[in-house]
Amino acid sequence: MSKVVIIGAGGVGRVVAYKCAQAKEIFTDIVLASRTASKCEQIARDIHQDVGVSIKTDQVDADHVDQVVTLFKKHQPRLVINLALPYQDLTIMDACLESGVHYLDTANYEPPEEAKFEYSWQWAYQDRFKEAGLLAVLGCGFDPGVTSIFTARAAKHHFDEMHYLDIVDCNAGDHGKAFATNFNPEINIREVTQKGKYYENGKWRYTEPHTVKRMLDYPNIGSRASYLIYHEELESLVKNFPTLKRARFWMTFGDEYLTHLRVIQNIGMASIEPVMFEGKEIIPLQFLKAVLPDPGSLGENYDGETSIGCRIRGLKDGKEKTYYIYNNCKHQQAFEETRAQGVSFTTGVPAMVGAMMVLTEQWSGKGVFNVEEFDPDPFLDKLAHYGLSWHEMENINLEMD
Ligand code: NDP
Repeated sequence: MSKVVIIGAGGVGRVVAYKCAQAKEIFTDIVLASRTASKCEQIARDIHQDVGVSIKTDQVDADHVDQVVTLFKKHQPRLVINLALPYQDLTIMDACLESGVHYLDTANYEPPEEAKFEYSWQWAYQDRFKEAGLLAVLGCGFDPGVTSIFTARAAKHHFDEMHYLDIVDCNAGDHGKAFATNFNPEINIREVTQKGKYYENGKWRYTEPHTVKRMLDYPNIGSRASYLIYHEELESLVKNFPTLKRARFWMTFGDEYLTHLRVIQNIGMASIEPVMFEGKEIIPLQFLKAVLPDPGSLGENYDGETSIGCRIRGLKDGKEKTYYIYNNCKHQQAFEETRAQGVSFTTGVPAMVGAMMVLTEQWSGKGVFNVEEFDPDPFLDKLAHYGLSWHEMENINLEMD
């Protein structure tokens, strides 16, 4: 029925390719393309062996609009699922406009030379996508993605007015390495070393990195140190749910992880300023990425689980109410199914389900949309069906002031 092109053959691209292959009645033609063709070919072989479905592969450098346009001309997809890095978002969106292809991604654009992520660059495509009659779906991973759709479900079914939102992200997994990141190290370290930032009473407030800490209790996991950091979905959620008085994001970090991170920063290895090395300019953070464990290799020995959800307080029928919606995902289960670890799995499953919503027109529109703007119900039904079940609790202690 529909041809889809997936760009990016990392951990998340692998999971999306597996999941699309499992839903062959919708994704009748699947093309996986990336900078390094051999990685696509390896994933295609694994899918053939594990799922019994053949997918096509191709090579593309998505930094170049013309190469992406050529890829689209060759394969004629209805939709592209962008799972390369945030740096490629705009070139792929440009190619979509030129070729008449719908767009979906999991991370907002970041300029390579500045660790700054915000939606302004992609929201600026609104009129062009609208005029072209095309749909761009932004941020359809887990966070952003499912967290935003959990919030939309809360607004639709549980509250008349949402006032306080805390997104809580716990990875209680153990991969046995001294230090590794769960997704692309360069993007991950840029994200977690930024200043903390949250929204309160119409203003953005800033904190020094990892200085606001709270012990939070996660279902099936227990109490974990959680730190206030900035995360991109806060920007669109406060815009789309204007009754929110405060919106924050918390992520768990172990002491060992934070110590390594501090050393990496102190010795300048987290820097994105070019330095001269043996007569050649290099970016320290990109060099660090080359020596850190590949996140895609963590799966085999990864134990434990993730727990990500939204804790919300607000009003229903004139009364104060609290609500917690979350998913727990076991790393081993993800690996057994897709040979990828839990963080790639929790990102890839929603990206596939979002793509399914677009192709079946359960999500539709012309222009650029964040996922909380669509109907959360059909998405959440399919999310559980494809491996990420979710749970709700009401009127409990949210552990938030
Ligand atoms: P990886 O680094 O494992 O994979 C990225 C892939 O993109 C690699 O195959 C890489 O190719 C490819 N790529 C990079 N540059 C280009 C280019 N110019 N042209 C074509 N392909 C390119 O990352 P992950 O799979 O861990 O993450 C993928 C995306 O998902 C990232 O944008 C990340 O920010 C996002 N993400 C979102 C989350 C969410 O919950 N919303 C959570 C986790 C990740 P090569 O092999 O040649 O380097």
